[in-house]
Amino acid sequence: MANDLIVGIDLGTTNSLVAYMDGDTPRVIPDREGRNLLPSVVSFAAEGIVVGEAAKRQLLFRPEKTVYSVKRLMGRGYEDVKGELRFFPFQIVPMEQELVRIRIGEREVTPPEVSALILNELRRRAEEHLGQEVRRAVVTVPAYFNDSQRQATRDAGKIAGLEILRIVNEPTAACLAYGLQKKKQGMIAVYDLGGGTFDISILKVKDGIFEVLATNGNTHLGGDDFDQRLMELILREIREQFGVDLVGNPEAVQTVRLGAEQAKCRLSSEAVTEMALSFPGDLVKYGRQLSRKEMESLVEDLVEQTVAPCQTALADAGLDAAQVDEVVLVGGATRTPLVRQRVRELFGKVPRAELDPDEVVALGAAVQAHILAGKITEMLLLDVNPLSLGIETLGGVMSVLIPRNTTIPHAAKEQFTTSVDGQTVVDLHVLQGERELVKDCRSLARFELRGIPPMPAGIPRIEVTFLIDANGILNVAAKELRSVTEASVEVKPSYGLTDAEVERMIEESVKFAEADVRARLLVEARNEADQVIRATEKALSDGAPLISMEEMAAIHSALAALKTARDTDDLDLLRERLESLNGATKHLAQLLIDNALKEAFANKRIDEVVERT
Ligand code: AMP
Repeated sequence: MANDLIVGIDLGTTNSLVAYMDGDTPRVIPDREGRNLLPSVVSFAAEGIVVGEAAKRQLLFRPEKTVYSVKRLMGRGYEDVKGELRFFPFQIVPMEQELVRIRIGEREVTPPEVSALILNELRRRAEEHLGQEVRRAVVTVPAYFNDSQRQATRDAGKIAGLEILRIVNEPTAACLAYGLQKKKQGMIAVYDLGGGTFDISILKVKDGIFEVLATNGNTHLGGDDFDQRLMELILREIREQFGVDLVGNPEAVQTVRLGAEQAKCRLSSEAVTEMALSFPGDLVKYGRQLSRKEMESLVEDLVEQTVAPCQTALADAGLDAAQVDEVVLVGGATRTPLVRQRVRELFGKVPRAELDPDEVVALGAAVQAHILAGKITEMLLLDVNPLSLGIETLGGVMSVLIPRNTTIPHAAKEQFTTSVDGQTVVDLHVLQGERELVKDCRSLARFELRGIPPMPAGIPRIEVTFLIDANGILNVAAKELRSVTEASVEVKPSYGLTDAEVERMIEESVKFAEADVRARLLVEARNEADQVIRATEKALSDGAPLISMEEMAAIHSALAALKTARDTDDLDLLRERLESLNGATKHLAQLLIDNALKEAFANKRIDEVVERT
């Protein structure tokens, strides 16, 4: 039976959640034991696949068969993650130029397949709780996720049999959970410190529309690093007091890790806490009091590391901290009082923290689902396209159809033509980037428009349409309008882009701007020269009897001069010679037009000719 239920899903690096709208209130759906968070961990045990808490326990016993942090691998190539392999105990298949795969014993799985298992578990949880089938969802992703990473998230939905109606940026979802879409206008900073990642996003809201102005962060900084600091202290003290080094014992280290995390969390609400850890064999019984002050001194520098990304994001958005109207906290680690204090100092205002920071993104996804279901109609949600999108045109130049920072969804259309007579196939090369030449841009896809009826160069009218949907997924279609030949491609890049690469591409476009523009002008002048050379040669063969020997010699010499300049890099020389050839052929061109008109008169086809000239 069809139903209009759409759930909101936060598919997180460490934990995932599912939420729904209970009337007008978003609520997280707990599992049977009442737990809201589902650890984003999947274990491929011989007895069967397990997901969540049960899989998390397997991390200790079957680390090579247990996959966690799979979000870091979504839509990414081996090249992208090579530098991070030390963070993954499971095996990643080294395949160049392709999306990464994970090896689990004999089998290989893709990151979307692993995420699909997590989505499936959340779906099961929701169905059980709500007593109805769940088929549609809104899923959140980090604002900096590129096309490939968003597409991988959609694929995960497809594999799980869930229709993902919309992919929403996590900071946007957090704002929705706080109802900030109701503000007439404002600037919002979303500070998200989770277990292993830190993201800062600056958003602008105006008349219910959100726009991500800037993002920054650190993909390896979070609450887990706080645990690590306390673990190091405990392990050192055990060594000093008992002469026992637990480092080589994974089970004991895990006990220390859990003890450290629990003590850290208690210290968010208590000034002092008691730690008591015992280990099998009763050799070591470790206990001591730990104060919040002491904990803070252990992590102070880590908290401080979040400040610079905030300042950079503010600068990128062209704002001062004082211009930010609201600060929203997301992620479990923002419960730490020291973090809240630092955020307050940085932005000069008390951050919003009334909602559970672990749940706020899922709650916002449920609000978005509610909007999509037509329950709230007054609002539109928009984001921006982070890098320009376009196609390759003659001579290897990038022709932009959708510029960077265009609000999405967005459609753009442009007409192109062929450069060779009788061309029946056109190669379309879809590009992403800020540089003028194709070789400096990122190739997203190639496809062919085939079956164009043979026509002279310049006659076919090829309409290229770029459609970027609200999820940032790009569909490119090409159509030859005279024959209605069509082809299209949905862009799913072979491998992803890192945040740093996006930044590098933008920086380089500024750095090389002058050289790039010159290179582009040179290509364009060469294209023009080729066209003029072809046209002149044709005019000479058609119109030789019409002109004098001197005129003919002048045209030949200007033509030869242009041909030599065509193959140099001298733009000024090329332009100068183009101009002199155009000058030399002016008279001949006029004579040819007159002749054509006379012929048409003779054949009583004047209307047609006048129309064409
Ligand atoms: P998330 O990835 O958003 O689920 O955040 C998980 C991180 O938040 C982990 O490092 C947790 O230890 C941390 N965390 C959860 N509760 C607290 C708390 N009360 N105080 C400090 N950190 C916490």
